[in-house]
Amino acid sequence: MERKNAWKIYGDADCAALEALSKRYRAFLDAGKTERECVREALKLAKARGFEDMRRATSVRPGDRLYMDWMGKALMLFVVGKAPMTEGLNIVGAHIDSPRMDVKQNPLYEEDDLAYLDTHYYGGIKKYQWVTLPLALHGVVAKKDGALVDIVIGEDDDDPVVGVSDLLIHLAAEQMGKKASVVIEGEQLNVIVGGRPQKDADEKEKAPVKAAILAILKEKYDIEEEDFLSAEIEVVPAGRSRDFGLDRSMIIGYGHDDRVCAYAQLEAIFGLEGAPEHTCLCLLSDKEEIGSVGATGMQARYFENAVAELMNLAGDYSELKLRRALAACRMLSCDVSAGYDPNFASCFEKKNAAYLGRGVCFNKFTGSRGKSGSNDANAEFIGRLRRVMDDTGVNFQTAELGKVDVGGGGTIAYICALYGMEVIDSGVAVLSMHAPWEIISKADLYEATRAYAAFLAKCR
Ligand code: MN
Ligand code: MN
Repeated sequence: MERKNAWKIYGDADCAALEALSKRYRAFLDAGKTERECVREALKLAKARGFEDMRRATSVRPGDRLYMDWMGKALMLFVVGKAPMTEGLNIVGAHIDSPRMDVKQNPLYEEDDLAYLDTHYYGGIKKYQWVTLPLALHGVVAKKDGALVDIVIGEDDDDPVVGVSDLLIHLAAEQMGKKASVVIEGEQLNVIVGGRPQKDADEKEKAPVKAAILAILKEKYDIEEEDFLSAEIEVVPAGRSRDFGLDRSMIIGYGHDDRVCAYAQLEAIFGLEGAPEHTCLCLLSDKEEIGSVGATGMQARYFENAVAELMNLAGDYSELKLRRALAACRMLSCDVSAGYDPNFASCFEKKNAAYLGRGVCFNKFTGSRGKSGSNDANAEFIGRLRRVMDDTGVNFQTAELGKVDVGGGGTIAYICALYGMEVIDSGVAVLSMHAPWEIISKADLYEATRAYAAFLAKCR
């Protein structure tokens, strides 16, 4: 059964709403190129809409809006519902980390009159895509005295940018014969940051270019070389998202995976009016691209702890009630899907592919080969979702991540399913996923936002 292209049924009102939404999304995407920046942006938006710090609350009532920030890298936004929490929450969950290169702990060196930052890539990337691009540095440096220095270099028009060089084609005969996975190797992802020796450097100075870079870091940020030991600096594509296509139907940007779903979730929860039937949660998690590990990844316990805190504030907490609440939840694990690409048609199965412009996509299963690593959603739950979507007039499609046996991928769905709750993957189709610049359709962003809003307000 083929799903319709959403653009064909849009009237003027839809097109105007979709353009306005796309502008807000692009501003969010440009302001949040790291998980920390995303949490900061999301919090700013949430506070402006009346969300208050859960840690300061002493009780809650239906309709209350509360946030719980986890280490500045994960975020939960709750809207308290009328029903007891043991009836479960309606949850939309996305991740806000994206593939990139992380600066190593001991990164700065000089070689043959150029200064470099050594990196270790994060998430699944085609390394060859990350060379010859203007790149920016985003992150924090934690000083020994507890101060946290914010770094953003390469985003203002008159900022310098950095980057990784590639071999000129004239000398690349051997390189061009290599497999794509080793054309550029991990240890070659060295970011050029300077090429000008320090003026009046001592003749005995063996690394005058590096010395000049250190002098700049000292002057601008009060950072010493040793401070890299306690820094998190991410190397990401420099520059802003843009409208894509002569018809402006798409957006090209860094980090659509998974900030497009994260933003759709934010708009959905902000759009709730008053007190919903069930308590709603917008969950933004970190570290999905490396297996949802660490204290800010979905495998950590901050989510269930926050639900326990909320039940306690409602005066209705016990260990048993918490377990009942978690098991009774309904969740959309909102993550991007592989957009069908006619240029690589052989990797997709056309009846079960996600097409740009055909609306929000539901994935019953993800995973690889025999669905390994998948969350296989229950048919009964999908039936209930179809009803919510159709009643609201949401354009949706269903898909798998490529052909059986071609590859696969995972999300946070299987982790939340461990509580016994109903979960399904649902998201926006992306072209060039995990490339420095990814592409989505504005129509799919619009439908995802509508789908998540309908789910939060209406799913039973
Ligand atoms: Mn993802
Ligand atoms: Mn991903």
